[in-house]
Formats: sequence, structure tokens, C-alpha cells
Amino acid sequence: MLLREVEYVRPASVEDAVRLLAEHDGARALAGGQTLINVMKARAASPDMLVDLNGLEELRGIELAGDGTLTIGAMTTYTELMASAEAKARPILGEVCATIADVQVRNRGTIGGNVCSNDPTNHLPPLMVAIGARMTIAGTGGEREISAEEFFLGVYLTAAGPGELVTTISIPAGKKDGFAAVTLGADGTCIANAAASVNGAVRVALGCVDAVPVLVTADSPEGVTDAVRGANLMPPSDVHASSEYRTHLAEVLATRAAEEAAGR
Ligand SMILES: Cc1cc2nc3c(=O)[nH]c(=O)nc-3n(C[C@H](O)[C@H](O)[C@H](O)COP(=O)(O)OP(=O)(O)OC[C@H]3O[C@@H](n4cnc5c(N)ncnc54)[C@H](O)[C@@H]3O)c2cc1C
Repeated sequence: MLLREVEYVRPASVEDAVRLLAEHDGARALAGGQTLINVMKARAASPDMLVDLNGLEELRGIELAGDGTLTIGAMTTYTELMASAEAKARPILGEVCATIADVQVRNRGTIGGNVCSNDPTNHLPPLMVAIGARMTIAGTGGEREISAEEFFLGVYLTAAGPGELVTTISIPAGKKDGFAAVTLGADGTCIANAAASVNGAVRVALGCVDAVPVLVTADSPEGVTDAVRGANLMPPSDVHASSEYRTHLAEVLATRAAEEAAGR
């Protein structure tokens, strides 16, 4: 289906991009376009203006600090994360990106676009919560930084409000992480997923079971099943899985992800 007519701008700086987004009610940031263009084609979104972030070098790049903290530009693609020597400091990042969709999506889709879409079936929101990522958000009033737990607010809704941009995502040092998913086909959408981190206590973030990732903690991987049961999940039913089946998958995948993390 063809797109509705839309104004298109390529800002020269993050400052310009934020100003354009704040000045125009109907403006939306365009990153990899792998979600936005599809929802525009389906007429589920009809922005009046696309503010294309692809020319902004400020939003690209992966930096590794001396303490192991990674700072990842929001416009970094999955393919760049998979290939980056710096990103290997937290190996789970490239490993999970390698399982997202197909090579075309991975070449265009960005870490910023993935978290800002907050599609509950996406791979990266639970991963960001489990590994304790922090998002830097720029607006006309300046910058603020918030945790991934505070960032995801609802289906397609995040703390980056109208007129704001996620500029970087920072990820603390750590290697003991795991991820498990049941997908539609080999590289399809997740029916349920779980990301785990065992750098200290066990943190597991469950995806596809609520509007935002559900974080559970446990003292050991053996305690994860009880922790998931204690969360009293009420996932949605749809054509791919009933609520009961998703609840069962959440327990199994959480344990699988935690065991993978603990075994590293
Ligand atoms: C066939 C197909 C299969 C897919 N399967 C999966 C899958 O299995 N798992 C998965 O995780 N994803 C999947 N995706 C989605 C894909 O990962 C998208 O790349 C991702 O959801 C959005 O990233 P993007 O860079 O393309 O963002 P865009 O589509 O350009 O933008 C998405 C939204 O985020 C906003 N946005 C983008 N960047 C910023 C920013 N820096 N600050 C503020 N707002 C911003 C945009 O305004 C828009 O509202 C699939 C996509 C396709 C086409």
C-alpha cells in the first residue's frame, strides 16, 4: 500500500531534530523505518512530518569505557551491534540482535527504534530491563537519564514523550546473561521471551506477557520458577497462544535464560 503524503526533513543536529519534533505536533522520528513505515502503510499511524535521524552521526557509535560500561548511540543498527568489537564486552547484545528477523531488518533496524517502539513482542525491551540499561532522553529542555525499568510505560508507549529523542543507551559491565524465546518460525516474532542476568542476584525480564517487560528476581536460577509464579502473570491470548500457554512458556523460558546466564 502507498504511503499518505508526508513532509520529510533531515535535521543537521540532534538539537534541530528535537526542535522540529517539539514544534510540530504531527512529527515523528524516523530511525530504521522497520516498524514506522509499516504502520504508516497500514494507516495505523499517519504522521504529518518524518524527522529522519539517519544523517545524525551524534546518534551513532559504540563506546566502551574503562569500567566496562557501553554507551550505544540510538541509531546503531543490529548488524553494527553484532559486528562491534566493543559490544562484545556484553556478548548477549550481539547474540540477541542476531536472532531478530532477517538480514534486511537487522541492517536497518536500530536499538533506539526497537526500544522506542516498545512492541511487547520485540526482543530488546526485556533484554534492556534484565541487564540494567539506562536511556538518555533529549528534549528542548535538556537531557535526562532513566532506567529501562522506568522507560517502558505501555504498549507502544515509553518515557520518551512527544518532542523527545532517545540519544544513547548505556549498559553496565557484565557477561553472565541469557536469553530464551519461542518464536513464530525460526526468526519470527516472539510468542514469549525471557532475558536473564546473573551479575549478582538473578534478574529475569519476561516479554510478551504484559504491556511492558515484567521483572522478577531470585537468589538463584532454581528460584526463578517460583518467582515467575509469584508475579501472577495474566498474559493476553491471541491466535498464536492462549494466556495459559504463554504463562507456561514464561516459566520455562525464564528458567532456561537464567540457567544460560549462570552457566557463563
Ligand atoms: C518483517 C519484520 C520482522 C520483525 N521482527 C522482529 C522481531 O522478531 N523482534 C524485534 O525485536 N523486532 C522485530 N521487528 C521490528 C524491528 O526490529 C524494528 O527495527 C524495530 O522495532 C524499530 O526500529 P527502527 O529503527 O526500524 O525504528 P522505526 O521504525 O524508524 O521507529 C519506530 C518508532 O520509534 C520511534 N523512534 C525511533 N528512534 C527513536 C529515537 N531515537 N528516539 C525517540 N523515538 C524514536 C519512531 O518515531 C517510531 O515511533 C521486525 C520488523 C519487520 C519489518
